[in-house]
Amino acid sequence: MRANEELTLDGNAVGGLLDEVFGADLTAAVGTCPDCGRRDALATLRAYTYAPGVVLRCPGCDGVQLVIVRTPRGLRHQLRSVIERR
Ligand SMILES: [Zn+2]
Repeated sequence: MRANEELTLDGNAVGGLLDEVFGADLTAAVGTCPDCGRRDALATLRAYTYAPGVVLRCPGCDGVQLVIVRTPRGLRHQLRSVIERR
């Protein structure tokens, strides 16, 4: 078991947040991991929601694909994955 696995959700858990950031529910969109090249729906990513902000990691290599942080000036995000909408 990976560290903090009991605190890990899947990408479906942050569908509403993805909608806030990107203006659409992207859980069915396909992302490509920049570290290992794994391609799959964003819903399959591991969602760490207990960090400061939300971190979505690749279930294959644990690489960070997306970080979303709510700040007093709004939502900020860093996207490392290439996302293709279906
Ligand atoms: Zn990966």
